[in-house]
Amino acid sequence: MQEKRRAFIKTTVLASSLAIFSGIATAKNKQQRRVVIIGGGFAGATTAKYIRMWSPDLEVILIEKKTAFVSCPQSNLVLSGHRTLQQLTFDYHALSSHYGVKMIQATVNAVDVDNKNVRLDDGTVVQYDRLIVAPGVDFIYDQLSMLTPEIVETKIPHAWKAGPQTQLLHEQLKAMPKGGKVVMTIPQAPFRCPPGPYERACQIALFLKQHNPTAKLIILDANGDIVSKKALFKGVWDDLYADIIEYQPSNGVENIDVDTLTIESVFDSVQADVLNVIPPQRAGKVAELAGVINVDKRWCEVDFRTYESTAVKDVHVIGDAVASTLPKSGHIANVQAKVCAAAVIALLHEQEVEPEPVFGNTCYSFTDGEKAGHVAAVFRYDPKTEKMAVMPGGGITAVPTLLEGEFADAWAHNIWSDILR
Ligand SMILES: Cc1cc2nc3c(=O)[nH]c(=O)nc-3n(C[C@H](O)[C@H](O)[C@H](O)COP(=O)(O)OP(=O)(O)OC[C@H]3O[C@@H](n4cnc5c(N)ncnc54)[C@H](O)[C@@H]3O)c2cc1C
Repeated sequence: MQEKRRAFIKTTVLASSLAIFSGIATAKNKQQRRVVIIGGGFAGATTAKYIRMWSPDLEVILIEKKTAFVSCPQSNLVLSGHRTLQQLTFDYHALSSHYGVKMIQATVNAVDVDNKNVRLDDGTVVQYDRLIVAPGVDFIYDQLSMLTPEIVETKIPHAWKAGPQTQLLHEQLKAMPKGGKVVMTIPQAPFRCPPGPYERACQIALFLKQHNPTAKLIILDANGDIVSKKALFKGVWDDLYADIIEYQPSNGVENIDVDTLTIESVFDSVQADVLNVIPPQRAGKVAELAGVINVDKRWCEVDFRTYESTAVKDVHVIGDAVASTLPKSGHIANVQAKVCAAAVIALLHEQEVEPEPVFGNTCYSFTDGEKAGHVAAVFRYDPKTEKMAVMPGGGITAVPTLLEGEFADAWAHNIWSDILR
């Protein structure tokens, strides 16, 4: 069944790629303006759909290297066995069949902003009128050079992009000796999904409590304290996982012996049976190729009214790659994508853009298999600072509940549909 589904997805994507192949290779219709989007994640797939929905006169080409969309939200629950990766995997079919987005399954490996085109891994060159870069994050291994791609894929997974590494980490937890030790490390903020590592700690601890109750989870956090939803996580760790979780703030990774799974941290040295290192992050590599990384050599500064890069004209950046104090969440990626879609449509039709965009973010975290809590905030563009400012309101859950668990699940199903159906 799964094989059949995979084959179907592959065929569908391939067929739609071939259908547009000739259109891309030849000069495009002079009348129709073309928006090219790199990356079909929370940000890129949303903006592709909304541009076509709101302005069908525009041609939209979405270039995504993977064959399917795999959701990071809820992927921590795969670790505890309360979700499967299959439940979090979706095809891109509706984007082309319902909205006329032209999908190409390929990796962009060059961007020529002077001649306004991108080059795919098979050498095809695709012209654009406006380019939207939505590559998510890549990892910084400067201080962790022992973590070669092979080690990360087979032995010390980050599992910070949902997929095979998520499954590997789950299998490693299952195979761990009784009374063993899991060590997870959290990088200095900013990173993708501020509450994500602490939600992950809950899910790993839940798995241990249910299957290996004498085992321990040691959290080495490079930050001075829990970065998000502190009271919620502290409360849950004390109530449910006090015998399992040992949290060590300000104790970042200094060195790793990949043979013995021994971590040297700022204060200590510890040997793990299962090791989950979440490395520091930066905008995805293709942002560098497009020349739009201009903050700390990591992130991309944008005009928050249009998401146009402040470094390169006619190139927009959305999602986790953006430099901002906004949380790097799927929800924010989804709403930025809509602001960007509206702005790109306005700019291509020589209309005014919205001068003060407003949007919200709600981020749920599961604290066991069923209960969750949230953090919510509203952000508005502030013309004085030219940044997104937090508005009064919002809030944060003190104690997780089953009802919020239902909301969290509903949120996920809603956003997956909003992006892909
Ligand atoms: C464990 C975990 C739990 C999370 N939980 C939540 C949650 O509960 N709620 C929430 O709101 N957020 C959550 N997040 C955060 C959320 O997943 C990210 O913020 C979101 O995915 C960012 O969207 P994006 O489009 O910027 O990046 P992505 O969704 O990663 O999409 C980027 C896409 O670009 C593609 N790509 C990159 N480079 C190229 C290239 N050169 N050519 C072609 N394609 C390319 C990639 O394959 C990828 O599909 C979680 C994250 C993690 C890791």
